[in-house]
Amino acid sequence: MKILKFGGTSVGSVENLHKVKEILTSDQEEKIVVCSAMSGVTDQLVRLVESIKFNNPEEITRSLHRLENKHYDVIDALVDNQEVKNTLKDGVSSIITEMFEVSSQEYSDIINSRIITFGETLLTYIFSGFLNSIGISNVLLDAKEFMHVDSVENPNIEKVRKKINKVLNDNIQSPIYITQGFVCIDENNQISHLKRGGSDYTATIIGAALNASEVQIWTDIDGLHNNDPRYVDGTHPIAHLTYNEAAELAYFGAKILHPQTVSPVVDKDIPVLLKNTFDPEAQGTVISNKVNRKGLKAISAKDGITAIKIKSNRMLMAHGYLRRIFEVFDNFNTSIDMITTSEIAISLTIDDTSNLDEIVKEIENYAEITVEQDHSIICIVGESVINDRNSYKLFEILNYIPVRMVSYGGSNNNISILVDTRDKIPTLRFLNERLFQIPEKAVV
Ligand code: ASP
Ligand code: MG
Repeated sequence: MKILKFGGTSVGSVENLHKVKEILTSDQEEKIVVCSAMSGVTDQLVRLVESIKFNNPEEITRSLHRLENKHYDVIDALVDNQEVKNTLKDGVSSIITEMFEVSSQEYSDIINSRIITFGETLLTYIFSGFLNSIGISNVLLDAKEFMHVDSVENPNIEKVRKKINKVLNDNIQSPIYITQGFVCIDENNQISHLKRGGSDYTATIIGAALNASEVQIWTDIDGLHNNDPRYVDGTHPIAHLTYNEAAELAYFGAKILHPQTVSPVVDKDIPVLLKNTFDPEAQGTVISNKVNRKGLKAISAKDGITAIKIKSNRMLMAHGYLRRIFEVFDNFNTSIDMITTSEIAISLTIDDTSNLDEIVKEIENYAEITVEQDHSIICIVGESVINDRNSYKLFEILNYIPVRMVSYGGSNNNISILVDTRDKIPTLRFLNERLFQIPEKAVV
């Protein structure tokens, strides 16, 4: 059994859905196919939630009609048989009716989750029906019946295993099962979600639960690149990454992967393959336990970082000071990414600023605190990268760009620097030139 996950672009048009169909039928192995919503749909649903929040019935109606028409158009272009067309449109119409009903209720977190996960419901319903109508037999599974994820950070894989095995036993056996990414049921038995981009995570949770032979993540790029191709020319896909490397890159900005994707499969050593729907023959990236080579592999950048400096003379020679500061962040559920200290000051970064005002108020009681927004963490990743003999070149950046913080040695696999977001692109380009201008094989 293997798991294949297709992202928003891969299922984002009729043409692309045909490509996905080709991939699914290219071998006979039993598979579970996890799909995202069509690209743009979840964003549209997020806006719909705003209309519910601000009680704007005209906008709700407009938005749901737009969504209905979009999916009707897909059915029209995808399906030839008129009867199948009608059946699928009726199905979409009942989903939209349900959405109207949910949208008429008062806003809450549950309403938010219910609405934003409907994109996956719509797409999987249509795609499964289409495949069956052309003789590619498959069974549509409702992810809400088995994705019982009490804690998003630490899912109970055993629970998912029991539930999915029951669902598979209760359904007829099929070479292809299709299900929705992103959606889950939380510890209060309510509909919830795995955060934006969470379908990747759905795929690896299912992969771990079923002990799959591999998890394939199909996107619109041929694997994870050594630098951000949006800003840097001449990047190349990396053939192998370790789980550690992939986790660091995903957490620190590599958009191709949800940050938690690899965590469920690490212990079981189930490989995760990153593949390109538009070039299925391309090698892509394999993520596994295997360390193919050590040293520098890739650079990524994470925006929206806030740098905080906390300074107090009372810190001099005092113990327990850091604990007091960390406690404040902890009390306000805010996690810290980077940190550097001197004898009387500490600098740290956060990305979630929802409780920043309260944090500042609290710390102001015993220290001077300054906050600088719009920073980016640039992260240099590779197994034992700190021992890579070319890593020193990274510090030449100090000649050209004002670096706000450096974190070196926190782990062997990551060196991070913090810069103003205005300097992000020049930094990425500079590092690409200095660190990757050596032929790959020469890096030990
Ligand atoms: N559809 C959801 C999103 O756009 C989940 C996903 O695509 O992974 O975030
Ligand atoms: Mg994604």
